[in-house]
Amino acid sequence: MKNNHVTSLKIDLNAVDFNLNYFKSKLKKNTKLLVVVKAFGYGSDAVSIAKHLQNKVDYFAVAYTDEGITLRSSGIKTPIVVLHPQVVNLELLVANQLEPNLYSHRILDAFLSLSKRKNLDEYPIHLKFNTGLNRLGFSLDDIPKIASKLKGNKTIKISSVFSHLGASEDKNEKTFSCNQIDKFKTITFDFKKAFGFIPTQHMCNTSGILNYPEAHFDMVRLGIGLYGFANEKSKTSELKNVVSLHSCVSQIHTIKKGESVGYNRGCIANRPMKTATIPIGHADGISRKLGKGMGFVSIKNQRAFIVGNVCMDMIMVDISDIDCNEGDAVIIFDNQKTVETFAKNSGTIPYEFLTAISQRIKREIL
Ligand SMILES: *Cc1c(COP(=O)(O)O)cnc(C)c1O
Repeated sequence: MKNNHVTSLKIDLNAVDFNLNYFKSKLKKNTKLLVVVKAFGYGSDAVSIAKHLQNKVDYFAVAYTDEGITLRSSGIKTPIVVLHPQVVNLELLVANQLEPNLYSHRILDAFLSLSKRKNLDEYPIHLKFNTGLNRLGFSLDDIPKIASKLKGNKTIKISSVFSHLGASEDKNEKTFSCNQIDKFKTITFDFKKAFGFIPTQHMCNTSGILNYPEAHFDMVRLGIGLYGFANEKSKTSELKNVVSLHSCVSQIHTIKKGESVGYNRGCIANRPMKTATIPIGHADGISRKLGKGMGFVSIKNQRAFIVGNVCMDMIMVDISDIDCNEGDAVIIFDNQKTVETFAKNSGTIPYEFLTAISQRIKREIL
C-alpha cells in the first residue's frame, strides 16, 4: 500500500547533482567516484538516489547485502560494493552480482570456497586493510598469507584495495590521519611486491576528499557530502540541502494558565497558551531530547518550539504568537543548519539524526 502519511521527507535531486559536482570538482580528472547509499541513502531514499546517479558514478556502496539486493531489484546495474558482508550472506551476494569487501581471513576463506564451488570466473572482490580505525580490515602482516591464497586464483579478481580514515574531519588529528595514509601506502607497496600488480586504491570518505587531497588515490568514497553535509560549517555552507521534512498541524489547543501539556505533564503553562499537535514523534526519529524547547518547527515562517515531552507519534509546539490554523503546513527542517542544531541538541551528529528518520515517514522526490 502507498504511504499516505502527511509527514513527508522531500528529496531534492537537483541538490544531489549540485553536491556531486561540487565533490567531482575536487577530484583529479581520472579519479573514480564511489557513492555511498547505505542506510537508505543516509535516511533519504537509496533507490531514487541510485537511479538518479547510476550513469554519473563508477560505484555504489552499501553496508549490508540486503541493501544491495534492494538496489539490484530496482534495476540498478552499476557495480555495488557491500562494505560489511557476513559469511552467511555470501551466496545471496553473488546471486545478485554484489561485490564483497573481504576484510578478514574468515570471510576470505568462505568466499574462496564459495567461488570454487560455484566455479566463478574472475568475480570482483575488494580487500580492506586496517590502518588505525581498528574496525574492519586485514593488517599489513596478512599480505603474504592473502597472496598465498589468491595469487593465480582465477575464480576471483581483486578489484580494489582500500582502507578507511578514522578522523578525517578532525583537524586536531592530522598526525593520526597522515599516519594512516602512510600505512596505506606501505600496504599498497607490499601488496604490489607480493602480487606483481596493484588494483584500484581508495581511502577517502567525504572529509577525506576535502581535507586530504593527497590521499585520493584512484577513487574516493563519497557519503554524507552528497546529502549536503561536510562535517564543517564553512564547507557545508558550500553544499545544497538535499532533504527537508514537512508535516501539518493536526489540531490546535487553547491551554489555560496552570494546565499541562503532554505526557508526564512535561509542560505546565505559566500563561495562557496555544499549542499545535504535529504528526511526528520519537518513533520517527525526533529524539525525546528535543522536547521542552530543544527542538522547534516552522509554521507560517515563524519558529514554534516543542512543548513538553516528545511523544511516540506526535509533538506539541507553542503557537501562542503564531496566527495559524489546523491543516496548515509545518516545516520541521529544510536546511542543514537546523539539522545540525537538532543533532547537537539530541547529543549526536547529522549522520545519526538523518539515518534515524524512520521508514514510516513518506519519501517524496522533487
Ligand atoms: C560510510 C562509509 C563511507 C562514507 O563516509 P562519509 O563520511 O559519509 O563520506 C566511506 N567508506 C566507508 C568504508 C564507509 O563505511
